[in-house]
Amino acid sequence: MVSNTISFLDLKKQQLRLGNAVKNRVAQVLSHCQFILGPEVQELEERLALYVGAKFCIGVSSGTDAIQIALMAENIGAGDAVFLPAFTYTATAEVPLVLGATPVFVDIDPETFQIDPTHLRLCIKKIRDEGKLTPRAIIGVDLFGQPAPWDILRQIAQQEQLFLLDDCAQSFGGMYQGHKLGTEADATVTSFFPSKPFGGYGDGGAIFTNDPEKAEIYRSLRSHGEGKTRYQVLRTGMNGRLDTIQAAVLLAKLDFFDAELTRREEIACLYDQHLASVVQVPVRVPHSQSAWAIYSILLPDEHARTELQNKLKEHNIATAIYYPLPLHQQPAYCNSHDGSVLPVSERISKQILALPIHPELTDEEVLQIIHAIKG
Ligand SMILES: *Cc1c(COP(=O)(O)O)cnc(C)c1O
Repeated sequence: MVSNTISFLDLKKQQLRLGNAVKNRVAQVLSHCQFILGPEVQELEERLALYVGAKFCIGVSSGTDAIQIALMAENIGAGDAVFLPAFTYTATAEVPLVLGATPVFVDIDPETFQIDPTHLRLCIKKIRDEGKLTPRAIIGVDLFGQPAPWDILRQIAQQEQLFLLDDCAQSFGGMYQGHKLGTEADATVTSFFPSKPFGGYGDGGAIFTNDPEKAEIYRSLRSHGEGKTRYQVLRTGMNGRLDTIQAAVLLAKLDFFDAELTRREEIACLYDQHLASVVQVPVRVPHSQSAWAIYSILLPDEHARTELQNKLKEHNIATAIYYPLPLHQQPAYCNSHDGSVLPVSERISKQILALPIHPELTDEEVLQIIHAIKG
C-alpha cells in the first residue's frame, strides 16, 4: 500500500504555517545586532512569566542548563542525594552527577507514568537510614505533557525539608488544577528544544520562580556568576544565556502556541476515541490538561510493540520509543543505583510506543495512522 509519509515532527510544514512571523522577528535582531541578552530576551521572559503566572522567568541556554543552574543555586554537590523518576529523559539524572551529587531513581505510576510518591517516600527513608548521603532535592518531571502529582510532592518536600524542582521540559503550556504549570515547585525549568511543545529553532530553556533572591542568583549563574557589574564575579557560574535570536523565534511562536495546544488535544481525543478498544491509551492525570509533547500507547509486551512498529513503518508512519531503557539501567547511571528492581519503569519501557502528535497533522493523517494500527 502506498501512502503519504507521516513523520514524527514536521518543522518544514510548521515554518509554512507560521508564515513570515519568525523571519520578521529574527530580521529585527539582525538590524539591532544585540545578539547576547538583547531586548527580545527580556521581552520573552516577561511574556512567559505572565503566561504561567510566575513572578520571574530567566531565559537560559537549554533545559539541561536550567536544571543545572537551579541545583547550583542550592549548592547541591558531593554527598547530596537528588530524587528523580527512573523513567525520564537522561538530562534529569545527568545534572546531579555533573555537580557531584547522586541521583536516586524512583519508580513510576503504572497508569500516568509520573513519579510514584509512595516509592519516593520509601527511597528518602532508605537514604536517611543508610546515613551516607544527605537528601537535598526532589525533581518532579511532568512526563509527556502531563503533570506530576504536585500536591503530594509538595507535602513530601515540605515534611522532608527538600528543594522541589519541576522539570517541565515536556509540559510547558500544560495545566494542573486549573492553572498553567510553572509555579508548582520552588522552581520550574523548561526546554525550547525544537521537538518540545514550545520549541524554538535551536537550544534554549527557562527557569521560573516566585522568589526574587533566587531569580537574581539564577541570572548571575547564567552569566558566569557576575554581580552588579560584568567584571565582579560573586560565585562560580556558567555560560548559560538564552540567545537573542532564539528569544525572537520564540516570541513569534508564542502567538501561535495556544492554537497548537488545542490542536494537540484534538489529535489526542481522536486517538483516544478510535484506539481505546485495541490498545491502552494514555490515562489522563485528574484535574489537568496535557501539553501532549508525546502520545504513548501501551502494548501487551515487547514483541507486540515491535510488530506494531514494523507494521506502521511499512505504512510510512514514524513512531518512537520514550524510553527504551529506564535510567537506572543505563551504562552511565547504573553505578549510581543501589541495584534494586524498579518493576514499573522496567516493564513500561518494553511496552510503550509513541505515535505522532504534532500540530501539523491533519485529521486524515491521524485517521490513516488509526486505520494502520487497527488493520
Ligand atoms: C528535553 C528534556 C530536558 C532537557 O532539555 P534540553 O533543552 O534538551 O537540554 C530535560 N528534561 C526532560 C524531561 C526533557 O524532556
